[in-house]
Amino acid sequence: MTTYEGSCLCGQTEWTAKLEKDQTEHVLCHCDTCKYLSGGAFTMNQIIPASALKLGKGGDALKAYTYYGESGKPVHCYYCPNCTTHVYHHQTILGDKYILRTVLLPKLRNNGVAAEIFGKAKMSWEKEVATTFETMPPEE
Ligand SMILES: [Zn+2]
Ligand SMILES: [Zn+2]
Repeated sequence: MTTYEGSCLCGQTEWTAKLEKDQTEHVLCHCDTCKYLSGGAFTMNQIIPASALKLGKGGDALKAYTYYGESGKPVHCYYCPNCTTHVYHHQTILGDKYILRTVLLPKLRNNGVAAEIFGKAKMSWEKEVATTFETMPPEE
């Protein structure tokens, strides 16, 4: 277990995340919501226990935007109210787990890719770089 530090673009918000070795590669999400929220073709994430994320400076000031996922359950997106950097998302269907934006942890930014999800919404020009699922991986 290693602790990684993250901060938003403007520096108002800081956090740390404790990750297991097998959580240090990125899961690429190609869903259409991620395109809107990031302005890019995909986002880079890991699913972590809520207890593994510690909000530091500015954590209390985070704003939440809520949308409804494919399951019909709410997804709360927590972002810096100043620069709009998304720190983490809480898909309520996942219970006490968070979707952490791994690309915002500089020490592991250049790590490899563990998997790709929502492959059905991938751009035609994107190459496959890891095992790709149509939507989410099947339940274990
Ligand atoms: Zn900020
Ligand atoms: Zn997505």
